[in-house]
Amino acid sequence: MKILKIPRGFDLNVAEQPDLSCTHLALPSSLGCCAGDIPHIRPKLLVKEGQRVNTGEALFTDKRDTTIQYVSPATGQVKTVIYGPRRRLMEVVIATESEDEYVEYDPVDLNGIVGMPRDELVACLKKGGLWQGLLRFPALDCAEPDHSPAMIIVAMDGNDLFSPRPDIILKDNIAAFEAGMAILRRFSNRLSVVCRESSLEGIWEIGRSVAEQITHTAPDIYPAWHPGAVLYQIKQQAAENNSWCIRLDHLVMMGRFLLSGRYPVEKIVTITGPGERQPHMRVRQGMPLSALVGKIPGNSLVTTGRFNGRILEKDAHIGLFENTVNIIEAGPGEEMFGFARPGLDKPTLSSTFLSSLFRRPAKMDCTLHGEERACINCSYCERICPNDLMPAFIMKALHADDLEDALALGLMDCCRCGLCSFVCPSKIELTQILSDAMDAYYKDKE
Ligand code: SF4
Ligand code: SF4
Repeated sequence: MKILKIPRGFDLNVAEQPDLSCTHLALPSSLGCCAGDIPHIRPKLLVKEGQRVNTGEALFTDKRDTTIQYVSPATGQVKTVIYGPRRRLMEVVIATESEDEYVEYDPVDLNGIVGMPRDELVACLKKGGLWQGLLRFPALDCAEPDHSPAMIIVAMDGNDLFSPRPDIILKDNIAAFEAGMAILRRFSNRLSVVCRESSLEGIWEIGRSVAEQITHTAPDIYPAWHPGAVLYQIKQQAAENNSWCIRLDHLVMMGRFLLSGRYPVEKIVTITGPGERQPHMRVRQGMPLSALVGKIPGNSLVTTGRFNGRILEKDAHIGLFENTVNIIEAGPGEEMFGFARPGLDKPTLSSTFLSSLFRRPAKMDCTLHGEERACINCSYCERICPNDLMPAFIMKALHADDLEDALALGLMDCCRCGLCSFVCPSKIELTQILSDAMDAYYKDKE
């Protein structure tokens, strides 16, 4: 097992952490299957409002590859189809029934996974709504089944500061993990299984067979365990730039699907925010935000990632790739004589606040401490970037329409961790600017 040493990142001592217990939430009266949060997809609706669907039945597909299906997480009636600008499909909402009727497939055991023709395995995963869990670098689009990647990274700790703990996801799912790993071995000989240092003990406790497959541990400095940061640390050749990655929860879902022949409907979600620590929650896919968090404090921002992710409206549902809900308080706004206050609980990269000396748990809020202004060349963004990029230089190249320069500066190595935007004293949305440029370049090349 190798220990990754990330040179940069944010060793942030945040007060809000999810509790390590796990609770189960009941099936809500409606669930949503989101298309709007899936990158690069061109969704094509397959159902109509009022139509009854079974659990695991296709709701929409991707026009670029209509064999990839996005399926219903419950049995019930299609209540609403929500469209966004230019009638782009955003979400299909299902009014749930209390009993599930599943779309049934033939279960496949470990030997079956090893012996199954590769095409058949891919077709089965695509039809079952699980293939899209495998993502391809650098654009993090759905993996191409005809390609054999030089490496697949298994992200045991997801990609967020508060992603669910692997030992909680793995509880009662060791066989599904083994099945998932057997699936990955059909596509690549090099599997890199990465977990946070602080998760290792829990993984050993839950299953020795799982712990023995961990190839790398990453320090607890965000985003050391993020698959994009891991790839940057361990890649040895250019071919690995197009490696694949998968999160532990999606790997377990793949395994469960093949072993049981049914779409796995549950996931683990963490809720973090002000107040008491919340337990991990075992919930249905597509859970409404209101059922997860109840009443949200006024003016708070709810996001699916601490430093990046989607902003959730009150009536939103949790998407397939989302498993953290962050409630970030509005904050006090402009503080009287704020410059003279010690800031003992304020997160800081520089030594602006005393919290940098005392390591007291920092409290995050939405206060921006000013408006966007021009770059002041402070280099904070460069000092924090885990992938050794110079985000300000890349941004300036992009603003000058010099894509070649931006690419030469490593644009496609950005893992979209969000830290550069977080630390920028000029409030420049660097991650968004780089991310949009990466997506535009990828779309152009496609
Ligand atoms: S450029 Fe910004 S978002 Fe991209 S990896 Fe560096 S810090 Fe993270
Ligand atoms: S952190 Fe912001 S102000 Fe400082 S160099 Fe980067 S972009 Fe410019």
